[in-house]
Amino acid sequence: MKNAPGFACGRVSSGSRRDRLAPRARPPRCDCRCFIIPTDVLERMAKDKKLTPEERKPFVDTMKVEKEWRKARVALSKLSHLVRTVLPAAPAAAAPAAPAVTVFDCAHGTTLPGSPVPNPGTAPDAVAKRAFTETQAVADFYQTCFGRNSVDDAGMTLMSSIHYSINYNNAFWNGTQMTYGDGDGNIFIDFTKGNDVIAHELTHGVTQYSARLSYTNQAGGLNESVSDVFGSMFRQWQADQDVTGADWLIGSDIMGPGATARGFTCLRDLSNPAAKHCLAPQPTKFSQYRDGLDPHFSSGIPNFAFYKAAMAIGGKSWEKAGKIWYQALTGFPPSPNMRMSAFAKRTRSLAASMFPTEPAVRTAVDKAWTAVGL
Ligand SMILES: [Zn+2]
Repeated sequence: MKNAPGFACGRVSSGSRRDRLAPRARPPRCDCRCFIIPTDVLERMAKDKKLTPEERKPFVDTMKVEKEWRKARVALSKLSHLVRTVLPAAPAAAAPAAPAVTVFDCAHGTTLPGSPVPNPGTAPDAVAKRAFTETQAVADFYQTCFGRNSVDDAGMTLMSSIHYSINYNNAFWNGTQMTYGDGDGNIFIDFTKGNDVIAHELTHGVTQYSARLSYTNQAGGLNESVSDVFGSMFRQWQADQDVTGADWLIGSDIMGPGATARGFTCLRDLSNPAAKHCLAPQPTKFSQYRDGLDPHFSSGIPNFAFYKAAMAIGGKSWEKAGKIWYQALTGFPPSPNMRMSAFAKRTRSLAASMFPTEPAVRTAVDKAWTAVGL
């Protein structure tokens, strides 16, 4: 591995009226590189001699585009932050009860957002239909389990663009919307097929409007980790799985035949972050952390802690461990440079205050962090 990189959850409850009508709280900021596939993986595949030049090309092309996307996002972030700081704006209108979900088709072009897909929920294109239904399900997951109304908790429309470019090997949240590539069909397939991928990326939006974790060093690792944690929880919630029935994998449904033939079954595995079946294996101990690591890499440490806590608590991950992690992420003022030990301390404290009659929950969370060296 190298340096490069709720309480019981029914389906009818929703956020309180006060929550739904709350004005958009703090100015959002996204200076993140919120791609599902880490640069390290793209680089490795772009140079992989086991692949033909034709098979390497989509990775080379995707890398070129991402470098420019990253520059553009940093610039856009600075500009939008300046605009919100300097220019007057009317108060936000009352939020809708649930976010609208829209889908746009890039038709293999690169202009965002592309053309609107009418009635995407019943569209003949399975990709459009899937982007719509899974995004709506993620919104439902956040509202039902955590009382959150969209990524900003103010009903923000959730917008997705599909069929971005040709053979594009990634999916990303750019601060305002989701974009999905179709994959090269060899290492990766259609990125909308990963329900955990969709929840991972939209959770970057939740982080953007709550803890506002940066995307470097320890805060970066925490930012990536909460996206994996809520991505995996969403996958478990959809399948109604308890912690022992869950696969704890990220990206298993977007792996193409060329990846599985080489033994890769996922991008990451919360239950075994360093496993060889991970296309992007990760550290499991804080002693392996150092500044400058790719957040997709350092996120293995808090990922493993969440897995251990959820397993020790048992039952459905989103009912207790998930509630604690959600509150740690969203229940405090923004903390862009948060360290992992501070997040661990917060969850230990919340485990005791949120489940005062269940000391085993506090013990599980405490031991989970201790096991990873925090
Ligand atoms: Zn991410």
